[in-house]
Amino acid sequence: MKIFVSADMEGVAGVTDKEHVHRTGKEHERARQLMTGEVNAAVEGALEAGVKTVVVNDAHGTMRNIIPEQLHRDAELITGAPKPMFMMEGLDSSFTAVFLIGYHGKRGSYPSVLEHTYSSSVVYDLFVNDKIVGETGINAAIAGYYGVPVALVTGDKKLAEEAQAFLINVETVVVKEAVGRTAARCLSPLKARQRVREGAVKALTKVSTLQPFKIAPPINLKVVFINPGMAEMAALIPKSKRVDGRTVAFSSTDMIEAYKAFRAMIALAGTTV
Ligand SMILES: [Zn+2]
Repeated sequence: MKIFVSADMEGVAGVTDKEHVHRTGKEHERARQLMTGEVNAAVEGALEAGVKTVVVNDAHGTMRNIIPEQLHRDAELITGAPKPMFMMEGLDSSFTAVFLIGYHGKRGSYPSVLEHTYSSSVVYDLFVNDKIVGETGINAAIAGYYGVPVALVTGDKKLAEEAQAFLINVETVVVKEAVGRTAARCLSPLKARQRVREGAVKALTKVSTLQPFKIAPPINLKVVFINPGMAEMAALIPKSKRVDGRTVAFSSTDMIEAYKAFRAMIALAGTTV
């Protein structure tokens, strides 16, 4: 077995604030350690379940959060940015399953710690074939494109509910319960790591029951931006369509093309911030 880990930071136990998740935040160095600890716990669980190869993709902010010298000896780390497939860089059809570690709720979900969808400063909502999706949804769809199921999702309680709603038989581990957007009741890091490790083992015992989350083409994306100026920039993408003041649509028969258009829209819209 071969496991791909996409690791975010907002859903890690002990992380609640922008001071944790931003590069210049006073608590960022601590948050990096907490994130590395939960990632290592997932790696340990995977190895315990018989996995031979674990590739970890750092998927938060600068994508240089996981502390290399503290990474589990038997994992490989994709670190740094930019990278073509962003939060899912490194995944291909040779993997058995995906783990989403330290994830957070889609934009607007409540209560979920620091919820957003790809960019909190630009994206108001992301629709895929008329359904609102968050990072769990779009990233699971990328994995589905490669025929790889999501086996484990960890984060806060709201995120676990979001994942359970569309990923059949997925294992979820709740490491904290949001009190508000920037407050949470958290497990201790040691307990959170124990649960993540146990969750990884459990997830892999039922891996044969999982289905890849495939979205049948055409893939119709609609991105609602925070203001019309952002949509103006996003609508420069060839073959995109301005739907209304804040909304730009893009349609493709290819999931990867649609995903790249989405990310290019965010990059262009971000130039107005
Ligand atoms: Zn995120």
